[in-house]
Amino acid sequence: MKPKSKVLVTRRLPGNALDRIQEKGYHLEVHEGFFLPREDLLKKVEGAIGLIPTVEDRIEAEVMDRAPELKVIACYSVGVDHVDLEAAKARGIRVTHTPGVLTEATADLTLALLLAVARRVVEGVDYARKGLWRAWHPELLLGLDLQGATLGIVGMGRIGQAVAKRAEAFGMKVVYHSRTPKPLPYPYLPLEELLATSDIVSLHVPLTPETRRLMDRKRLLAMKPGAILLNTARGGLVDTEALVEALNGHLFGAGLDVTDPEPLPPGHPLYTLLNAVITPHIGSAGRRTRERMAEIAVANLLAVLEGWEPPNPVV
Ligand code: NAP
Repeated sequence: MKPKSKVLVTRRLPGNALDRIQEKGYHLEVHEGFFLPREDLLKKVEGAIGLIPTVEDRIEAEVMDRAPELKVIACYSVGVDHVDLEAAKARGIRVTHTPGVLTEATADLTLALLLAVARRVVEGVDYARKGLWRAWHPELLLGLDLQGATLGIVGMGRIGQAVAKRAEAFGMKVVYHSRTPKPLPYPYLPLEELLATSDIVSLHVPLTPETRRLMDRKRLLAMKPGAILLNTARGGLVDTEALVEALNGHLFGAGLDVTDPEPLPPGHPLYTLLNAVITPHIGSAGRRTRERMAEIAVANLLAVLEGWEPPNPVV
């Protein structure tokens, strides 16, 4: 059988889901490298009718125009801020994503960062490894008690609610801010009130024009002195320069799975701060989660290519 047109997948994906694309007779091209330079993306996308990009690939009009036959951009993520949705809509290209499947894994990582920052786990590991651990001391590496602390969740969607559940198990009091109040057993607060009263603020809103730099200098300083900021959503929600300042005295610490810029350049001021715990955008990086994300992205892609409504449409 002559292969149908090309489907470009911009990174190798865990599991076997991509096999289905070939089984359906499409020509599958998978970029094998760890990085995909922009120039290579622009070349590789030529002739594609389907595209599975990762969060690191910026899919703007320029990319779409290199592939005039492109029918679907099936994101390997729930966030779609890396895709120009208006440009896709204008060209009749469907955009899909992978909601739900990565909720629990991302909530787990949020709690991992919270525990690491609050209880100074990374500092403790470094301290022990460097051979500095010579004695037990009542004042060694004192941190923040989670029992009784107030966790303010900003963006009470799937991941926000999964984080709230976990926080309850730790004996924390949960409050939240979202676009719309929800029938949940937690108090809804205006953002400024949440910032002023929370011991920990955790961000779970998508990155959109409305939420970009949501945590600007003023809002970071409006957080309680000694509070913790968690960001497992998108780096662009936070003013990085202002965060560095806030971490030098005002805040207890920050746990970041996402940054702006992303990745941070080596030697960035955030890397030099002991109270910043930074992971390399691994919120959804459970093996089974990543395999299921691949299955969902492929199901969305094939649905569009075969003329069906995709299960998880964005545009
Ligand atoms: P979701 O279910 O759509 O939840 C997002 C919530 O944000 C919704 O409840 C929505 O409010 C709220 N929101 C949107 N705009 C807002 C605004 N301007 N002000 C206040 N609240 C606003 O999405 P999700 O599945 O929880 O994912 C959230 C984000 O996490 C994704 O967009 C993605 O960027 C990020 N993420 C990161 C990783 C990672 O690897 N670190 C993994 C997965 C997801 P309403 O419901 O009130 O309308």
